Amino acid sequence: MTTESGDAPEDRQTISDRHADTAAEVVPDQLGLYIGGEWVESASGETFETRDPTTGDVLAELQAGNADDVDRAVTAAQTAFDEEWKQTGPAKRQKLLETIADRISANREAFAQLETLDNGKPINEARADVYLAAEHFRYFAGVTRSLEGETVPSDGPRQIQTVHEPFGVVGQIIPWNFPLLMASWKLAPALAAGNTIVLKPAEETPLTALKLMAEIDDVLPDGVVNVVTGFGPDAGEPLTKHSGVHKLAFTGSTEIGKQVMKNAADRVADVTLELGGKSPLVIFPDANLKKAVAITNIAIFYNTGECCTAGSRLFVHKDIAEEFLEQLTETAESLTIGDPLLDDTRMGPKVSTEQVERTLSYVEKARDAGATILTGGAAPEDDALEAGSFVSPTLITNIDHDHEAVQEEIFGPVLEVFEWDDYDEMMALANDVDYGLAAGVVTDDLTKANKAARDLEAGTVWVNQYNDFPDGMPFGGYKQSGIGRERARETVYHYTQTKSIDISLR
Ligand code: ADP
Repeated sequence: MTTESGDAPEDRQTISDRHADTAAEVVPDQLGLYIGGEWVESASGETFETRDPTTGDVLAELQAGNADDVDRAVTAAQTAFDEEWKQTGPAKRQKLLETIADRISANREAFAQLETLDNGKPINEARADVYLAAEHFRYFAGVTRSLEGETVPSDGPRQIQTVHEPFGVVGQIIPWNFPLLMASWKLAPALAAGNTIVLKPAEETPLTALKLMAEIDDVLPDGVVNVVTGFGPDAGEPLTKHSGVHKLAFTGSTEIGKQVMKNAADRVADVTLELGGKSPLVIFPDANLKKAVAITNIAIFYNTGECCTAGSRLFVHKDIAEEFLEQLTETAESLTIGDPLLDDTRMGPKVSTEQVERTLSYVEKARDAGATILTGGAAPEDDALEAGSFVSPTLITNIDHDHEAVQEEIFGPVLEVFEWDDYDEMMALANDVDYGLAAGVVTDDLTKANKAARDLEAGTVWVNQYNDFPDGMPFGGYKQSGIGRERARETVYHYTQTKSIDISLR
């Protein structure tokens, strides 16, 4: 592993100074709750801090929202829906979504730097997120105009037509791994469909959602989007229980997703859930090794492994396993790990010290069970990174597929590798987890690729690539990875309810 970015070795002070200078430029001045178009304090007066995971320093103090704040935000969203948004037609909504996209693009670098400070992701990956977030608004700006109903053929003297109407107020809860991008995945389709929103960002990474509100304050009518920052149980849970919220969309852990669904069930509110994953990546014996290693690298080390789609269980054919593992280990050890604000950095810190502990505890359990840690499994040995939440790229072999480190989502740069010989046995193992979010296949044999893609129990299967997210391609989970599909035309329908109008022609 390389821990030096650029020409000269970094020291702790250099990194700390760079982060402090960047924070002074890009951390927004307005950091209240954003309710009804106003920046307000939390009802309790309580605040919390968000930290820079590279330096451990406090980045900003935020308002800690609670049930009273959620209630205020829902009221503001309902008022905005009734008084203005309900009458705002698709052409107008399209233009507004395009303007939001333009505002994101116009502030591209500041958004990227802010995301890197708050989340720790490498600046180039943050830039990619910002680009994708803007494109997502553009995609749904287009979809806004295609929300057509149907005329239903029927015997008898009647005319049946359907219209797709918004729910009104929707509640959206997002995680910390792609803060701005997840906000765009939630906001864009909900707005396209004509809803108003109360959004709760993750407590670890609230800054880019607030910056987005600051940038679009003059774009949307007051109260159309409201943001309540705060902790899950205090600000998230009341949103899931609020009787004025008719649709919930949640991205996060399966454990909390189940609670969200239970709370929604109590009042029969609609839910979209995008939850955890433990995705398999299958390498066939004919695979080009260099390509297979590059794809694996993207599958498990992109965003420091903090992707719900992370290809974290790898099944490599035994004929090529030795050479593949040699090359993969070499790649993992040569990834530049360091200050994520530097262009050369390929892996930054994890989002928090808690997440480091969680990741390393799984590695420990694997080690205790006799697994081989081929590389990594600890923080990098580099004084300059000591204050940050870093974990080295980790490869594990000789581990039982039933082990909890294999069955559970680690959400870090940790890959478990299995060798296979018999296709059916391999596929049975590949599918032997509770999750089914994504999967990958690497082979130049089209028949094998297609068969594997059909056999894999996953909402998305990537062939000869991984973590590709073109707008319009539905994304969501099989099994306990979720309900509903995001990012696609069908998503906008998840934010509407169908009304049938049956007119007698007698
Ligand atoms: P992670 O463990 O990766 O942080 P979580 O599922 O806990 O994932 O968090 C995802 C989002 O859900 C965050 O915005 C968090 O604040 C929120 N959250 C956590 N607990 C709850 C809860 N009980 N009800 C609603 N939202 C919650």
